[in-house]
Amino acid sequence: MVICRDVVENIMDYIDNELDLKTLRVLEDHMGECPECQAFVDTYKRMLDLSGKMKEQTFVTPEVRERLKNLLKSRMKPC
Ligand SMILES: [Zn+2]
Repeated sequence: MVICRDVVENIMDYIDNELDLKTLRVLEDHMGECPECQAFVDTYKRMLDLSGKMKEQTFVTPEVRERLKNLLKSRMKPC
């Protein structure tokens, strides 16, 4: 069973489309049942999109990914 913490763990890969199909499906199933996660992912996608438009070079470096993951973990509330 997927909980919000799992979504946070995989959110970067999800957005980068690097997840395997099985994990992707599990995450999407959870988001379908969890409005908070769905809204969170939408917000995060927009944030990355805006950043990408402002910078020509890659915005999400491995270091940035780790920092964002830690930030998300600290903010995410369990379902
Ligand atoms: Zn959730």
